[in-house]
Amino acid sequence: MTSLPEPVPGQKKLGLVIDLDTCVGCHACAVSCKEWNASGHSGPLSDFQGRSDGVWFNRVHTYEAGKGEASRTVHFPRSCLHCEEPACVTVCPTGASYKRSEDGIVLVNADTCIGCKLCSWACPYGAREFDDGDGVMKKCTLCVDKIYNGNLPEAERVPACVSTCPAHARHFGDLGDPNSDVSRLVADREGYELMPELGYKPVNRYLPPRPRNNGSSCGSHEQISLTDLAAKKTAPQTMGAAFLNWADRILSR
Ligand code: SF4
Ligand code: SF4
Repeated sequence: MTSLPEPVPGQKKLGLVIDLDTCVGCHACAVSCKEWNASGHSGPLSDFQGRSDGVWFNRVHTYEAGKGEASRTVHFPRSCLHCEEPACVTVCPTGASYKRSEDGIVLVNADTCIGCKLCSWACPYGAREFDDGDGVMKKCTLCVDKIYNGNLPEAERVPACVSTCPAHARHFGDLGDPNSDVSRLVADREGYELMPELGYKPVNRYLPPRPRNNGSSCGSHEQISLTDLAAKKTAPQTMGAAFLNWADRILSR
């Protein structure tokens, strides 16, 4: 089994902050991810035997939250959350799955992965993708070969999904630094982690969809706090509650 690096106070935690209020579900992030990683750190990706269900590090799910006129469409991009306590790493019998001490990115070494799929069983977020063509496990790398590439202009040293998103719904940075832009964004918008009760401590954060100010039952003037919803401090039939129920269902598959 594989060890995690010792936690260090003030450690860098690179991750994504995804705004569910502005994501338009265009899938540009998913496509640009696949394009970049076809030749990147874990590439090439596979569309096994020409099927369209090949490897996608980033998938976008769309659902309807609420009912009737009070409903709205919410798009939910899903990829590895680069957890601080990821069982996907500790279950790995070969050390192929590992978490970097310098920035917290969780990666897979394709040379030592034996394709046993234990990590995909251990990930409750469905973030691991098995490459049938290569016979190894793959996942989001946060474009580790792009974000540290000194040959690129500094503005381009972000994950491909972030630089592509036309709605600017994806943000990248150090969530271990409370003064970073992404940490401030999370604080301002009450960003939340997925399924904190599992103890994996995901680094990525989601910003909740803002309720519409349209007089509907979804339309409070205040932003719905999904943390409060999870703690049952808010009425159960709100859009945010529907989101939580949906996210639980999709991630429990
Ligand atoms: Fe591992 Fe899944 Fe967490 Fe990514 S989201 S670090 S694959 S447990
Ligand atoms: Fe480790 Fe690969 Fe097995 Fe996953 S599939 S547990 S990365 S050896």
